Amino acid sequence: MKGRSMPFSAFLLLPGFLFFCSQGNRPGKKAEGWPAPGEVTQWAIHDPERPLPPVIVPGPAGPPVPAPSDAIVLFDGDDLSAWEDSKGGPPRWKVESGYMEVVAKTGSIRTKETFGDCQLHVEWAVPEVLSGEGQGRGNSGVFLMNTYEVQVLDSYENKTYADGMAGAIYGQYPPLVNACRKPGEWQAYAIIFRRPRFDAEGKVLEAARMTVFHNGILIHDHVELAGPTTHKIRTPYMPHPDRLPLSLQDHGNPVRFRNIWIRPLE
Ligand code: MG
Repeated sequence: MKGRSMPFSAFLLLPGFLFFCSQGNRPGKKAEGWPAPGEVTQWAIHDPERPLPPVIVPGPAGPPVPAPSDAIVLFDGDDLSAWEDSKGGPPRWKVESGYMEVVAKTGSIRTKETFGDCQLHVEWAVPEVLSGEGQGRGNSGVFLMNTYEVQVLDSYENKTYADGMAGAIYGQYPPLVNACRKPGEWQAYAIIFRRPRFDAEGKVLEAARMTVFHNGILIHDHVELAGPTTHKIRTPYMPHPDRLPLSLQDHGNPVRFRNIWIRPLE
């Protein structure tokens, strides 16, 4: 794609760059150049006082949700041919029994194809027996445009800060309810994502938006993102290309994924 390689490789440095450029964007403060929505900024990032959403029991796990005819299938259980590691090499995650599994320290993986606005379907599970607690228990993540994370975590009887639990738009919005299934059971995210719009000078014209269903239950209703996903400090948007890869996070825990498909919504 025209002009892809330069802005794309520069973009891969974004998280580190943002971290070092974020002076002044302390928890709870507005990001310069972009007024973050009030619902986000009334809470400090990872605020332990932020209320946890109610726990609800979703319906029982079913078989994989079949991809519709117009979807791009990113993983059907056989191989990782649609994916690469964060350096562009072959991914080193495990594929077996119809799922892929994070292999710790091999790094996050991303799609070879790039996407902007989309409908995304992802199924995930944490192992039935797992160790760790809080953020160290079944942590992974679905990163739209390699930038905006819907958190994957075992939040079944596992407490952590509200904006970091399963289904959270990490660091910004807790899910409306905790719809987690037990470890070992397959769970689904259905995500409708609208990318941010920037003008020619890189100013934000429209924030990114997300609507998310966890196990069929609405957990985000067209919320406006305050900026990219970052840890501990909120940072403003930085202009980026209209399409970027979807990525899945290696957070050191053996999380499984299956049945991943996407419908671009341009
Ligand atoms: Mg994560």
